[in-house]
Amino acid sequence: MKRLLFLATLSALVWTGKSQTAVVTDSLAHLSPLGETPDWSRLDPYQHTITKAAFLHQWESNYRDKEGSAPTPLVTVLEDRVRIVKQFKRPDDVYELRFSESPNPSGPSRTWRGAQDLPPYPSPERPLEGLRIAIDPGHIGGEWAKMEHRWLFIPKDPAAVASQSSPGSGPVAEGDSVLLVAKLLQAKLAHLGATAMLVRSQPLPVTAKRPRDFVEKARASGNFPPGATMENNAALASAAERLFYLSDEIRARSRKINDKLKPDLALCLHINAEPWGDPLKPQFVAANHVHLLINGCYSDAEIAFDDQRFELFLRLLQGFHPEEVAMATTVATVMAEATGLPSYAYTGPNARRTQISEYVWSRNLLATRLYACPVLFFEPYVMNNEVVYSRMQAGHYQGVREILGMPRPSIYEEYAAAVANGVSAHFRNHRRQFPKDSAPAQP
Ligand SMILES: [Zn+2]
Repeated sequence: MKRLLFLATLSALVWTGKSQTAVVTDSLAHLSPLGETPDWSRLDPYQHTITKAAFLHQWESNYRDKEGSAPTPLVTVLEDRVRIVKQFKRPDDVYELRFSESPNPSGPSRTWRGAQDLPPYPSPERPLEGLRIAIDPGHIGGEWAKMEHRWLFIPKDPAAVASQSSPGSGPVAEGDSVLLVAKLLQAKLAHLGATAMLVRSQPLPVTAKRPRDFVEKARASGNFPPGATMENNAALASAAERLFYLSDEIRARSRKINDKLKPDLALCLHINAEPWGDPLKPQFVAANHVHLLINGCYSDAEIAFDDQRFELFLRLLQGFHPEEVAMATTVATVMAEATGLPSYAYTGPNARRTQISEYVWSRNLLATRLYACPVLFFEPYVMNNEVVYSRMQAGHYQGVREILGMPRPSIYEEYAAAVANGVSAHFRNHRRQFPKDSAPAQP
């Protein structure tokens, strides 16, 4: 479908500078929290690498927040190019990306390898041979779990509060649980031939910064009374903490992944939760479900941020989406079967169900946006479902154990095995196998 997106006057703020190379000042940048002013020349290698049809297909079917979204004045699609406003507050300064005329052009060299790019795998047991995978256990856990609001304790009886450290009766923390899954998964992926790397291997932040380092940025972002400190103003403390664990921590992980680990694939491990009410008296819910997230579903407000608009284009041009949607579909099918859980359904505008799988949704999260490789973001189980909570409390074990009247495997083993089986199924389906008859003859 062809659609023209119109560039409109954004606001009364008119740039009067004459030079295209005018120095960019912070006052002109419109950035998300801790976001960096983009270097648009990073899109230069992608000139003439995508057809208009391929661009529009991804833009409309995945990257916008819904089919037929209203045009954004910041992105104008012309016959032979797309014109992108570089700075929200300076609509006359644009970046022009030219389309290629024919499909399948020889684009820029990829920084990652999909199933089609890898050499044939050597044996049925090692479909992931040579693949580099970053495993990102979500959140921080440990002493940070309460600050992250990823800590849950629902005592069976009030007396249990006193013995909350004993196994099987204490609190659970998402960051600690997914770290356990990550370590099991690392061994399984290595066994399948992959180089599997943990983004964090302890319940500690990847960033060297701490909440206190963000007090001044937090203060500038809100209306706090003069003399407010983290000690005397809970709202200021919370704002600084959120910059630390929601933004800077993920940005530090993205630098580690993009600059050091350089993977072909990143797996972000999480466990979902439903609202549990009063944190001092959290409640169980009956719901339990599974879904996977890939990057997409940008709202007008998100596209208005200079950094997010740039990151959307960088992602689209690097070709991650076709690989993400194909892999997520296979992995989700395996996970749904392994867990026996139904799919989750978002009801708000911040996520968009993919056309190919009811379990796979597009959503614009910092991790799915910044990690420079295909990213699968896992959200199986509901932490405050009583069965899930009890299985998390039980820790990791071999075989099955009776939990709430039913024999059940370790939830950590079930999670890790489902991810490993799903990823290996994708590569078995899409990667060539080294043909047996071309192997050197045995003497
Ligand atoms: Zn999470």
